[in-house]
Amino acid sequence: MLKLSKEEQIFLKNFTDLKSKSGSHSPSILTLLNDEGTGKKIEVDACFLSNPYATELFIEFFEKELVTTKLLNQIIEAYPPQNREIALHLSKTINVPADYIFIGNGAIEIIQAVIHNFVKGKIVVNIPTFSSYYEYVRVKDDIVFYQLSKESNYCLDVQHYIDFVKKESPDTIVLINPNNPNGDYINKEVLHMMLTELSFVKNIILDESFIHFAYEDLNLSMIDSYNLMNDFPNLIVIKSMAKDFGIAGLRAGYGIMQPEKVNYLLNHGYLWNVSGLTDYFFKLYSREDFQRRYDVVRKKYIMNTLMFLNELSRTPNIKVYPSRANFALVELLDGSDSREFMIKALYSYGIYVRECSDKIGLDGQFIRVASRSFEENVLILNAFKDILKSEKN
Ligand SMILES: *Cc1c(COP(=O)(O)O)cnc(C)c1O
Repeated sequence: MLKLSKEEQIFLKNFTDLKSKSGSHSPSILTLLNDEGTGKKIEVDACFLSNPYATELFIEFFEKELVTTKLLNQIIEAYPPQNREIALHLSKTINVPADYIFIGNGAIEIIQAVIHNFVKGKIVVNIPTFSSYYEYVRVKDDIVFYQLSKESNYCLDVQHYIDFVKKESPDTIVLINPNNPNGDYINKEVLHMMLTELSFVKNIILDESFIHFAYEDLNLSMIDSYNLMNDFPNLIVIKSMAKDFGIAGLRAGYGIMQPEKVNYLLNHGYLWNVSGLTDYFFKLYSREDFQRRYDVVRKKYIMNTLMFLNELSRTPNIKVYPSRANFALVELLDGSDSREFMIKALYSYGIYVRECSDKIGLDGQFIRVASRSFEENVLILNAFKDILKSEKN
């Protein structure tokens, strides 16, 4: 079991104050950097779940096409295009008719819009999960938690879940695929079967924010499920661009849903809800030259992640849960406190991880670790091995 030094204990107290201001989300690296005491400690941000190579790629295009050409001035000075115009670009890229697409200021805005406007009764949320899916529900009595079982590594027991939903007969269910915080992945075939069985549910929210990191074949081909929209009109797909493209600061996401739903939302607000920079990103995403380069960094990052998680799982005193996303849920098995582990990793090694003591539905001491660049992953592995080794003394 690990022990904190005096300095680490003071640091823990500072951090706890900052955390209390961030609600159920971890303080972002920017919040920490603004803070004198904690900020200068961070060397590797393994809390935020993004592909660092994709961030570099975006910045490269951004500098070449906007900064050096002065196009940036225009983007900042003028009103951005509206939702339907951006949807038109995206439509070609993801092969979905534009009237099914709602563009959001990050996926979070879409989650909020969908829950506030279309959820009219009982909603089944699997836990552990991304907390917004229950926090945004206005009538708390409508929330029914489906507990993923620890014995099954928090993976979805599909038949058990289907039976549960049939018994509860909810208005809405939420599936995150791969799931956050554990990276469990439901493959396309199983998903299709589930949707068929659950066609009586009015809204099925499918959050695919981490889908670019998942794979079903050796070529690591990109998975898409938009063809499902034809068969399942109750489906609402929500996609954040923050993680796979490493652009959380831009705020970009989209939802795919029946055109009546898109119309309803756009008739009730969301004028200029995303900036010109987000519009630039979506235009870039629809270009073949960008796509080609993106696919290279996507695959490179998946390979890095595979090596990283494989090596991490060999560290003593922890259990790394199976994941097909760019992070893993890690259980501390030696009685160490997850928050103290996080503080030690940050204070003494500069590694910022997500500790999960506030996540409902987890039984034990857990942290979530994101994969980063190859060099950063080496730093994370070394720190973990060192912390878990020095405990023995
Ligand atoms: C991070 C995350 C989001 C929010 O994404 P933004 O585009 O940054 O708003 C939505 N869903 C899941 C499952 C996430 O992990």
